[in-house]
Amino acid sequence: MHIGNLRTALYAYLLAKKDGGTFILRIEDTDQNRYVEGATDVIYDTLRACGLNWDEGPDIGGDYGPYIQSERMGLYKDYAKKLVEIGKAYYCFCTKSRMETLHEDQKANGETPHYDRHCRDLSAEEVQKLLSSGAEYVIRQKIPTDGETSFNDIIYGEIKTPNKDLDDQILIKADGMPTYNFANVVDDHLMGITHIVRGNEYLSSTPKYNLLYEAFDWEIPVYIHVEHIMRDSTHKLSKRDGDAYFGDFVKKGFYIPAIINYIALLGWAPKGEREIFTLSELIKEFDVSGISKSPAIFDEVKMKAINAEWLRALSHDEFKTVIIPYIKETVKREDIDFDLLADCLQPRAELLTDIPEKVDFIDSVPEYKNDLYISKKMKTTPESSLDALKMLLPLLENTDDFSFDSIHAKIMEKITEAGVKNGVILFPLRTALSGKAMTPGGGTELAAILGKTETIKRIKDGIAHIEAEVTI
Ligand code: ZN
Repeated sequence: MHIGNLRTALYAYLLAKKDGGTFILRIEDTDQNRYVEGATDVIYDTLRACGLNWDEGPDIGGDYGPYIQSERMGLYKDYAKKLVEIGKAYYCFCTKSRMETLHEDQKANGETPHYDRHCRDLSAEEVQKLLSSGAEYVIRQKIPTDGETSFNDIIYGEIKTPNKDLDDQILIKADGMPTYNFANVVDDHLMGITHIVRGNEYLSSTPKYNLLYEAFDWEIPVYIHVEHIMRDSTHKLSKRDGDAYFGDFVKKGFYIPAIINYIALLGWAPKGEREIFTLSELIKEFDVSGISKSPAIFDEVKMKAINAEWLRALSHDEFKTVIIPYIKETVKREDIDFDLLADCLQPRAELLTDIPEKVDFIDSVPEYKNDLYISKKMKTTPESSLDALKMLLPLLENTDDFSFDSIHAKIMEKITEAGVKNGVILFPLRTALSGKAMTPGGGTELAAILGKTETIKRIKDGIAHIEAEVTI
């Protein structure tokens, strides 16, 4: 699901929930040319994963079903025929080849291709004759030729359009299917839709919607048109950018509640400075007056910062549950202290997909060079590290309680006794246990995470590793 569509669904959900309304899922699948296998499942799965649970919809029913437009096919044509009866729509028998020639001629004259209202004034007899002859037809909306049509939008205010700028759009296609615009008006009325949140690419067709509502004498819903999400000041966020879809961001390691939090802020500004919101907090805070008239620029760096804040703010148990699948990508061992590992990872967590690489030393130490024991900051060398590991080995061998607190107390006592800086001892320990320059947690944490057997083995390996290169 495109991030823009998800944001539209989110705003509709927030608006409904804030005002005690009903959030309705309707599947609009009347355009068979645009049918994509599995697309409906993507809608269900994405909305559910994001917690945007619908009150009425195809799978759970409701009083206004069916909630899939292709299952409502029978009713649209009858409504179009009603419009024909009252003179607000008409049959058009223009053939495909006539339309093609017309559009070619218009283009040659420098005009935008449009329908020339050729069949608008056919007599009732002519229409009847053509219908009984089995001629193919569409049903078109009869737009007034003069005057103007206005409509109100919550974000944009009153918008007036001269009727001469509106085309006699098709309501029912040659295959008998309704157009997207017509099916929407009929269904929104029949399903009791009071508020419509949608992208502002529909602003220009809204006057035609209103003429339909007026023709049927139906109540016009509240329109909330939202601006596009842009990649930069001139380009929309599109599939070509590779990163426009909800699934892309999940794959990149964004935490779903953080994605929802960020996209809520794309085009809507909460009151105050606060930026981190759960979905239920968004329901309380959401207000259409905060929706912007300017396009929102998608900023992945900002989204990452919000993701990091989200991960840091989780409780220990929540964080652990979220990261376990990522840890398991590189860690098959079960006998480690996952709680301590989670505590070490949480303060610096940014993207969930960073985690497998951060813990990939837990099953086995990667190849490394003795240079890894050199730290200017810690004032360590392979030689000093060898001394440190040799000092730690008997100490830890004689330690039965391998909890972090116990190991920490013992090592600190030894460091004080030896009169050296902490790093001189702890940095070599961390290096021997991980074989890496960057680790979640220091030497003592890693020892406690790995447990006694593995820690002793890795210290011995570290000693052998240094001795193999250093001549004492
Ligand atoms: Zn025609």
